[in-house]
Amino acid sequence: MNDKIWLSSPHMGGTELNYINEAFKENWVAPLGPNVNNFENDIKDYLDHNVEVAALSAGTAALHLALIILGVKRDDQVICQTFTFSASANPILYVGAEPVFIDSEKETWNMCPKALEQAIEAGMKQGKKPKAIIVVHLYGMPAKMQEILEIANRFEIPLIEDAAEALGSTYKDQKCGTFGEMSILSFNGNKIITTSGGGALVCNTKEEKEKAVFLSTQARDQAPHYQHSEVGYNYRMSNISAGIGRGQMEVLDDRVTARRNNNHFYQEVFKEFPGVNVFVEPNADYFSNHWLSAVEINPDIAGFNREDLRLAFEKENIESRPLWKPMHLQPVFVNSSYYGGTVAEKLFDNGLCLPSGSSLTDVDRKRIKSVILTFKK
Ligand SMILES: *Cc1c(COP(=O)(O)O)cnc(C)c1O
Repeated sequence: MNDKIWLSSPHMGGTELNYINEAFKENWVAPLGPNVNNFENDIKDYLDHNVEVAALSAGTAALHLALIILGVKRDDQVICQTFTFSASANPILYVGAEPVFIDSEKETWNMCPKALEQAIEAGMKQGKKPKAIIVVHLYGMPAKMQEILEIANRFEIPLIEDAAEALGSTYKDQKCGTFGEMSILSFNGNKIITTSGGGALVCNTKEEKEKAVFLSTQARDQAPHYQHSEVGYNYRMSNISAGIGRGQMEVLDDRVTARRNNNHFYQEVFKEFPGVNVFVEPNADYFSNHWLSAVEINPDIAGFNREDLRLAFEKENIESRPLWKPMHLQPVFVNSSYYGGTVAEKLFDNGLCLPSGSSLTDVDRKRIKSVILTFKK
């Protein structure tokens, strides 16, 4: 059997261990230390915008803290893109709020501005203006930020950007992760860069960052003893993980280039497949890191469906995976409201994520291509 080709594997740059060794030498083996501070500064410099960064244990933790800092409370409404990973929506339940899910539009597969506006107006009619909007840049593709920001600003609802998959993507030359009132990043093992597990909250003021650090380290008041006036969390990033992150930041641009090259490879391979669309940017305003490359297959035209292709890959020990199952169709969110049509549902039915790691080799790509070509008519 050939080696497994994964959807997206960790890809070390080479200097990560130096930062970890430093941490061991100085005994900074704790959820604080120089790597944490320097990693935060590296991200801040990279985002190239006036933002503050708090390194945390996970992207999910960052989203939880974003909701708390924005004052979202029990029974409040929070709007969220339906077509996403469950981690975008679960923190809404952590704070006892009600998720309201929004369909995608066809160009970016992200939040549909029209359905967003309908949901806000419906909430206001019930006397419940939504407290926050969570927009996602799925697979690295920036959402329609101009339209969505215009709506968020008009209704004065804070926007949280889930940029977990979109570090390195830009919209109109501005980095994803800098548009929201707050944004979150993830450094899980399958993301474009990894700290083995980790995340970050990106915010606009020093006060918000300090609040995030305070809450993430058990909300300890200033006192010689342990004194708490608020519920705290254990969400800070470890100095060891941050050491991995520092090494990874040095190669982030290379990782973006490699993943974009994978996308070009798939565009070439599927060129002569009618009914198969490789997911690409709608126009030059959008620059995707192409964290994952994906195809949408129209089985009536293509003569095969996404399961046919997935199983053919599986037989050759190549991992591929259906697109996200929309949140409004998940049993855990069965009672939540939903605005929109069937765009996300159809993407789930017909879409497949393809091996997209930055460490794919030419030999890997050859194996992938030969599976795809067996479907050629
Ligand atoms: C990975 C991911 C998250 C969660 O990040 P973790 O660091 O794994 O907690 C949130 N949203 C999206 C869209 C993701 O892909």
